[in-house]
Parts: sequence; structure tokens; C-alpha cells
Amino acid sequence: MENKSIIIIGAGIAGLSAGCYGQMNNYQTHIFEMHNMPGGLCTSWKRQGYTIDGCLAWLVGSTPGSDFYRIWEELGAIQGRRIIDHEEYMRFENAHGKTFIIYTNIDRLEQHMLELAPEDKEVIKEFTKGVRDCTRIEMPIEKAPEVYGPIDGIKLLFKMFPFMPVLKKWSKISIQDFAARFKNPLLREAFPLIWLPEFPILSLLMTLAWMHKKTAGYPLGGSLEFSRSIERRYLNMGGEVHYNSRVIKILVENNRAVGIRLEDGSEHRADYIVSAADGHATIFDLLDDKYTNEKIRGYYDNLPIFSPLIHIALGVNRSFEEMPHSVAGLSFPLDEPITIAGKEWRRLGVHIYNFDPTLAKVGKTVVKVMFPSDYTYWKSLREDLDRYKAEKEQIADQVVALLDRRFPGLAAQVEMHDIATPVTFHRYTGNWQGTFEGWMITPDTWNLRMSKTLLGLDNFYMVGQWVEPGGGLPPAAFSGRNLTQILCKRDKRPFVTTVPQN
Ligand SMILES: Cc1cc2nc3c(=O)[nH]c(=O)nc-3n(C[C@H](O)[C@H](O)[C@H](O)COP(=O)(O)OP(=O)(O)OC[C@H]3O[C@@H](n4cnc5c(N)ncnc54)[C@H](O)[C@@H]3O)c2cc1C
Repeated sequence: MENKSIIIIGAGIAGLSAGCYGQMNNYQTHIFEMHNMPGGLCTSWKRQGYTIDGCLAWLVGSTPGSDFYRIWEELGAIQGRRIIDHEEYMRFENAHGKTFIIYTNIDRLEQHMLELAPEDKEVIKEFTKGVRDCTRIEMPIEKAPEVYGPIDGIKLLFKMFPFMPVLKKWSKISIQDFAARFKNPLLREAFPLIWLPEFPILSLLMTLAWMHKKTAGYPLGGSLEFSRSIERRYLNMGGEVHYNSRVIKILVENNRAVGIRLEDGSEHRADYIVSAADGHATIFDLLDDKYTNEKIRGYYDNLPIFSPLIHIALGVNRSFEEMPHSVAGLSFPLDEPITIAGKEWRRLGVHIYNFDPTLAKVGKTVVKVMFPSDYTYWKSLREDLDRYKAEKEQIADQVVALLDRRFPGLAAQVEMHDIATPVTFHRYTGNWQGTFEGWMITPDTWNLRMSKTLLGLDNFYMVGQWVEPGGGLPPAAFSGRNLTQILCKRDKRPFVTTVPQN
């Protein structure tokens, strides 16, 4: 029997993963990517001798022993890669000269928090117990839920049963609601800003648990290098990527997806069509809104997405050796509030890439500041390119001046600046509203599962962050893996995986 073919739209991590697992299972796969390189959001770019990393702060599954690690091995992404596990997640300074250090080792974090806020002993102990409880949780990702049989369901229940009280308790509380329990002003102020305030605190506990176990490290070399290693794995298995190939239509005949049309007018056909591209564009543009039902429309009308970002990177002729290596850097208060893109800010968060020597020459460092911002603000501003550019320059100047106050002498050491706005993210990756991670999870949506298919359309599937709420690299990777399990089941063939050697 001839091997079936798959067309995949998008060479982000989800598309590359779908391609890799398709090749492992003897499908003939072709990826069509609008950009000239792989990675999608998982990317880096060079400016004046500096490499700006646009993604990876931590990679869940970075060390052997977890199911996630196995997936990165199958994708050839982790072999031979040096991983850095930072001792600090971030530092939070307040206006009274006090510093809260979020250590990644939970015992050290607990001790530090108790020293800072003995009056909050009970809440601190409850929090650190939550992290310790989460260190025992292993997400069941080996088998796609869509191919579960009754026995799998029972096995899952047994595996997850001991953790149900932990998951239930912590998924219902947002970070900001938990923060309100602290009496200590520093902890009360810091907690909502460690991550997004509306996130369920479970996601913070899980992340700190992974970091404590040293399985959410930073892969040295950064994001594009990481994506390229998966691209290499894909090409080595005979997969084909077509770059500079924007898909403008998914071809449908008798409610069956049969192919795609590219911007240049060419049409390409396959047995299955998989979109690993933006969900909104796929459903409403590439498929002309013909397979949207109330449920799906409801997602796009009502669910929150991760706020788009203004992403400011500076190349600084300075080593920052006095600063600790950390996942999310430093947050410090401003003497006076500033307004950035119409929004007021009272503090600045800065990521200092002093831990990755591959990103800048010796003695030089990339530093990054990001602000959540509104897509429509930037979209309308960009209609006047001069004003758009001027606003970007003004923001860069503001940020440099603020950093100069915290790090005296910095302004004179800045050799490069690069500003990406929500519109930049949209232009380069197609992501709706320029979001950086798709659907945001909240205590109301943390358990939301989305279908990879659209009702009434056969031979069509979606993978990636628009069908895996919460987004991130591991979900993008297992989304492509799960899809291949679904196809193998449909085609009555066993699902196989392989691990390449170095
Ligand atoms: C600043 C930042 C920091 C992050 N930090 C982390 C982190 O530390 N850890 C983590 O796990 N995750 C992190 N993420 C999130 C992570 O990068 C994403 O969730 C993940 O990469 C999404 O992968 P994807 O394949 O689903 O989508 P995408 O990366 O968006 O890939 C979609 C691909 O489809 C292509 N495409 C779109 N439309 C078309 C079309 N019409 N025709 C052809 N091609 C098309 C795009 O060009 C793109 O290559 C971060 C993201 C950002 C921006």
C-alpha cells in the first residue's frame, strides 16, 4: 500500500513535530512555511553582532527522566545540548530597598521567604508544600487522549488519583488572589508580578517544581538553534520544507480537505491537511469561516489570550557579571511612573542574558525588557510608518534612560537596540493579535481541552498552541506527536517513535 501524504501548514515547533512523527510513521510529509526559516515563535535574530533570543526562558523536560525529555530526544532537540539550570528564577526589588529572591531550590526559597516575612509563616509553608507536592506530578503525555481506550482511562485515573486534591485545590486560585493572603507588603506586591496575576497559581507551583527538579533549564545557544535541530531531524528523515510559501487557502471538496493554495497561485494536494499555523487565520480565512460552529466562535469571542508584547532588546558593552544568572531577571521600581504605548508602568522587568556566551562577544550582553501591549494600538499606529518608527525609538530611549538609573553608565554602553511590537509578532508568525503563546489559562479554563478537528470537515486537523490552551513548547511538540497517533489509529497502523543518536 502506498504511503499516505500529509501537508502541514507552518514550520513552528508544532508543525516540525507533526512532520517528524509523520516521517517516523512512514507518511510522506511536506511542510509549507511562509517565513524563510523554521521555528515560528521559537526563534532568535542577529543585530550588529548580538543574537537576540525571542523565546526560550525555560524548557520543560530539559533533563532525562521525564516523558517530556523523551519527546525532545525523539525530535533530536536535546542530544548534546548544554542545559543551564539557574539558581534564581527572578529578583524583585521594592521601593524600600528590600529584595525578594525567588530561588529555584524550594528549601532555599522557603528559608528566604520565612526570613523576609516571619508573620506569613503559615501561608509560606502552604505555598512551599504546594510546590513540593507538585514535584511528584508527572503529566501523562505518552499516549494521545484522542486514542485512549477504556483501559487507558482507568490507568490514567489511577495514576492521577493521588494528585487530584492538589490539582483541584491550586487550579482554582489565581496568583493575585493567593498574593492577597500575605501580610508582608513585599510578598503581597511581588507575587502577582512573578507571572501574570490572573494565572492559576498551580502553573507557578508546577514551574517552580520543575525548576527545583532541574528539569526546566535553558538550552544554551537559544531558540533558533533549538528549532533548527528539530528541522535537521525532520530533513534527515526525508521530510521536505518549503520556505517562503504562504498558504492562502485550504482546498475543500465535498467537505473533505484535499490540498492548499499558495500565494503564488500554485496548488498542492495530499491525503491529510494539517494546520500548525495561527488558529484564527486557519478557521476564518484559510477555510472561509465555513466550518466554524458556536463553540469555536465562542473561543475566539470570549477566551483570553496571552497579551501581545513590546519586546525591547539592547546590546550592551558590559558584562553584568555582578548580576546573578536567572530565568526571568530583575524587577525594580521606578522613581516615577512612565507611560509606554498609552499604558502607565511603575516598575521595569529586565532579562539579562549574562549566562549565554553564544549570544554576544566576551564582555558584552543582551538585555531585554518586555511590556504587554495592545495589538490594535500598534496596528493603527503602523498605518503611518513614520509615527510607528518614532514611537518605537521613543520607547527605546525611555527604557535605556530607566535602565541607566538602575545600572549607572549603561546608556553610554548601549551599542544596539531592536524593538518588536505586537504587529511585528503578527507579521512574522501570523499569530492572531500578535499574541506570544495563544490561549491564556485561568482558574476557569485551566482544564479546557480543544478538538484538533472541525465539525463537518474530513481529513483536516489542527495542531499547536491554538488547540493546546496554555501554549508553550512542550504542548506544541506533543500536539504534533498526538496528531500522528490519531492518524495511525485511523489508518490502522501501529504508532512508532525512534530516537536519533548524536
Ligand atoms: C517572548 C517569548 C517567550 C517565550 N518563552 C517560552 C518559554 O520559555 N518556554 C516555552 O515553552 N514557551 C515559550 N514561549 C511560547 C512558545 O514559543 C510558543 O507557545 C510555541 O513556540 C508555539 O509553537 P507553534 O508551533 O504552536 O506556533 P508558532 O510558533 O506560531 O508557529 C506557527 C508557524 O506557522 C507559520 N505560518 C502562519 N501562517 C502561515 C501561512 N498562512 N502559511 C504558511 N505558514 C504559516 C508561521 O510563520 C510559524 O512558523 C515564548 C514565546 C515568546 C514569544
